[in-house]
Amino acid sequence: MKYDIVVIGAGIQGAGVAQAAAAAGYSVLVVEQTAPAAGTSSKSSKLIHGGLRYLESGQFGLVCESLRERALLLHLAPELVKLQTLHIPVYQHSSRSALTIRAGLSLYSLLAGLNKNTRFSKLSRKQWDGLEGLRQENLKAVYGYQEAQTNDTALTRSVLQSAILLGADVMMPARFVAAERNGQNCKVEIDNGGKLQTLSCRVLVNCAGPWVNQVLAKIHPPLPEQQVELVQGSHLLLPPLLKQHFYVEAPQDQRAVFVLPWEGKLMVGTTEKIHEGAPEESACSAGEKEYLLATLHHYFPQLPIPAEVETFAGLRVLPKSDETAFSRPREVMFAVDDEARPRVLSVMGGKLTTYRATAEAAMARLMPSLPTKERRADTALLHLTPVD
Ligand SMILES: Cc1cc2nc3c(=O)[nH]c(=O)nc-3n(C[C@H](O)[C@H](O)[C@H](O)COP(=O)(O)OP(=O)(O)OC[C@H]3O[C@@H](n4cnc5c(N)ncnc54)[C@H](O)[C@@H]3O)c2cc1C
Repeated sequence: MKYDIVVIGAGIQGAGVAQAAAAAGYSVLVVEQTAPAAGTSSKSSKLIHGGLRYLESGQFGLVCESLRERALLLHLAPELVKLQTLHIPVYQHSSRSALTIRAGLSLYSLLAGLNKNTRFSKLSRKQWDGLEGLRQENLKAVYGYQEAQTNDTALTRSVLQSAILLGADVMMPARFVAAERNGQNCKVEIDNGGKLQTLSCRVLVNCAGPWVNQVLAKIHPPLPEQQVELVQGSHLLLPPLLKQHFYVEAPQDQRAVFVLPWEGKLMVGTTEKIHEGAPEESACSAGEKEYLLATLHHYFPQLPIPAEVETFAGLRVLPKSDETAFSRPREVMFAVDDEARPRVLSVMGGKLTTYRATAEAAMARLMPSLPTKERRADTALLHLTPVD
């Protein structure tokens, strides 16, 4: 069997690449070892957002691209991506002053082309009474602005379904076990339910998320390991204790933390903890749980916290660096075996929000190794609906 493209992993990046490849007219197979969004793509903060905080680290390109993709997804996937008002409280001792927040929100709105969905407002003191249980002592200002929420698993499934409707094949559960690349193509071995299957493709796209280096290690001739680090982010899932959405500053280290009602629960996150073990061993630690509960309690001292708290943890793929994880770039990273004629492309990190732009950029990188085909569709026009 021969495909133009084999994609390893059906997280949001793999689903996105499959959709873009099929839309561009290529034959594509997605190989997923567990289920769609089984990895990081079901453990995100579930936001389709521009990334207000990335303005602090000067990642303007990422913010602009994310805001563009957010606007597109609000239009293409209205059942999956919905705007919500996030409240940012500013206290006397907050590290980001009211002026800084105002400047950030103004720039955010400007980068979105002053789109109506990025307008923000400062709440009047009278409106503070309507903020459920928010600590009012030393409160100086509260801003309200809009971000979009999604169900990351449902979004990934919907993008994958869109790829299938355009002709993509999916093998699942099936595990990529080895590949041999030569000048012309790649021979790929897949463990399909205990049966070893061999097929060939022009290009192999490694969208294995936190497993990126495990996949690379199985390719011959060998390719260098990517200099990335896995950084765990954990969330708490509590009963629906709040109806409003908040974006607060953790009192311990001033990191930005979301407190978001989501699908009948209250979600609080996230953290940043270097993960040393195997990706499948990722789990919220007692320290992370304590950090998030302390942040919640600091801003909402009256909330009745249950004794048992549900948690989930995901792994970011970030460039290795001495910088703190919080200030490291969040742009997607690409690595190819050969710039002129790529046979293997690895897609690492990036955002749920920008999966479509990432997939189109991945396709552009692969073009020198692919024949010209007749385009079937444009991903910027394809509507996405929930899959039953
Ligand atoms: C805590 C946290 C919060 C985040 N919040 C947001 C947010 O709110 N908004 C946003 O835009 N982005 C967010 N992100 C970023 C976003 O979630 C990730 O960038 C994205 O989900 C990564 O997707 P992926 O497809 O690269 O990886 P994954 O989703 O991990 O997919 C990789 C897939 O590859 C499969 N696989 C691995 N090895 C093999 C193999 N050998 N054979 C077959 N299959 C294999 C795995 O089973 C898995 O399904 C967040 C990330 C984290 C960690």
